[in-house]
Amino acid sequence: MDAVIKNFPNDVGEDQDGESRSVARPSEEEAKAAVELLLRWIGEDPAREGLLDTPKRVARAYQELFSGYGDSLEEILGRTFEEVSGYDELVLVKDIPFFSHCEHHMVPIIGKAHVGYLPDGRVLGLSKIARVVDAFGRRLQTQESLTAQIADSIDKTLKPRGVAVMIEAEHMCMVMRGVQKIGSTTLTSTFTGVFKTEPQEQARFMSMLRGKD
Ligand SMILES: [Zn+2]
Repeated sequence: MDAVIKNFPNDVGEDQDGESRSVARPSEEEAKAAVELLLRWIGEDPAREGLLDTPKRVARAYQELFSGYGDSLEEILGRTFEEVSGYDELVLVKDIPFFSHCEHHMVPIIGKAHVGYLPDGRVLGLSKIARVVDAFGRRLQTQESLTAQIADSIDKTLKPRGVAVMIEAEHMCMVMRGVQKIGSTTLTSTFTGVFKTEPQEQARFMSMLRGKD
């Protein structure tokens, strides 16, 4: 699981087993040509006026939508802050909005992440948690991997007593195609440390999440 907190350089990727594999990165011209090909594949005429700049726009939009591959989790989480007053209670950041894309169809996953942890002497800047969600969200994902990667990276870097991550999301690939389940939400959760071993900590996270605490 070490692989998930590593940076993914542009020309090297890792598969799920952490095996390095070489991924040759095409030029922007090649990416634009691929978009043009897809336009023809759907039955469009890439030469019509409204579509002339579309390949360039799509190629550039992809750079932003998938910018997570260029994010270094070590850089984002690298500097942790000592909590001067010794706060050791649950830190919970709720309702972090994110946009991702499913790795099966490359269509959007839209959702909210809730991230909690029990500090062990050190706390993270709150904005960093949202940046971690973004760094993993802006990649091709499954919701399960996204949930596990967020928990794992915070667990390994901050070494808190435990991390709890819950994600609720709507998968456009379910809404717009295939089974067409409009309004269905998928929930996933990952617990590490005391959230895994002590049911009352997990229950506390859940009740704080629901605003009953
Ligand atoms: Zn999908």
